[in-house]
Amino acid sequence: MSDSDLARAASLAHLRGASAAKGDSVAPPLQLTSMFHLPGDPAGVRQYGRADNATVEELERALSHLEDAPALAFPSGMAAITAVLASTLLAGDRLLVPADGYYAARELCGWFASRFGIEVDYRPTRSFEQGGFDGYRVVLVESPSNPGLDVCDLRAVAAGAHASGGLLVADNTLMTPFGQRPLELGADVVVASDTKAPNGHSDVVLGHVATRDGELWETLRRWRKLSGSIAGPFEAWLALRGLATLELRFARMCESAAVIAPRLVASSTVKSVRFPGLPTDPSHALASRQMRRFGFVISMTLDSAGAAERFIERCSLLEPATSFGGVHSTAERRARWGDAVDPGFVRLSIGCEPTEELWTALSAALA
Ligand SMILES: *Cc1c(COP(=O)(O)O)cnc(C)c1O
Repeated sequence: MSDSDLARAASLAHLRGASAAKGDSVAPPLQLTSMFHLPGDPAGVRQYGRADNATVEELERALSHLEDAPALAFPSGMAAITAVLASTLLAGDRLLVPADGYYAARELCGWFASRFGIEVDYRPTRSFEQGGFDGYRVVLVESPSNPGLDVCDLRAVAAGAHASGGLLVADNTLMTPFGQRPLELGADVVVASDTKAPNGHSDVVLGHVATRDGELWETLRRWRKLSGSIAGPFEAWLALRGLATLELRFARMCESAAVIAPRLVASSTVKSVRFPGLPTDPSHALASRQMRRFGFVISMTLDSAGAAERFIERCSLLEPATSFGGVHSTAERRARWGDAVDPGFVRLSIGCEPTEELWTALSAALA
């Protein structure tokens, strides 16, 4: 990690203290209210719970600090993506989407397009630049892609999108601000699901958008207020608690993944492994240039659907669950959702368990 990432991680713990008044709580308060005391002129203060909440604002302060850009919280990662689509696209516009990205985002883009007169095209992440970006109002990328872990050149895609007047929106869920910084690479907007590593305890669904485009930020905020897509204060409070340890958890998870991935490659029962940190991986060269870490998700293929299910079932340190980024390692066979992958393809999310204990359990289940 670069010094500025470490500086951001260090000062995150002191954000609240930096502006606290004598007698304020050190821990952020949970503000549960729909109404605010509001006599007379309502300007300039919190007015109503659909627009304003002190705990949500506290979370947004932490997210803005990590992103180094103004951030808005949403009740899920998908709500964040919806807000971006609704705030950027008009009938007749064209939208470019990764063909191998998060399935709900792909489905949403298709649904949005068919209902609102938008033209949508899909491209594989690995060859995302092929075909150019002429005429696209919005280009959505996910690098690395979930679950295939292919990458695209964010700088080059940003330059291409901008050259034809488009916006680059990067879904940075897999990497978090500690693993990759798309805004620094030229993206206009970052979207992320904080349900995953940022909250990290598998007890909250939440998302955010970050952008330095002030006009777009205002539109997003207006969309959120009018559509009612506000994050709940309790979820925001839990996510703040999760964010406090993100750097620590993410470091452990990435370090363990980097140890485990080559061992999986060497395992005779594993057919293939995808992990951007492997020097032999097709994503490695580009990932080394644009990512600060190689992440904690490993994709691997076992001989058959049966072998994959048995591995997941037998491993004492794996939760069989969809989703990733929790303190506990999780795994699932993605073909069960219809992803275009081998039946024995397993997405493995490395958690915070001590590395060697986790490897002992994984290798025993593979044997
Ligand atoms: C999970 C996920 C989302 C959606 O987030 P939710 O919080 O589940 O709505 C979007 N993009 C990616 C890459 C994801 O993994």
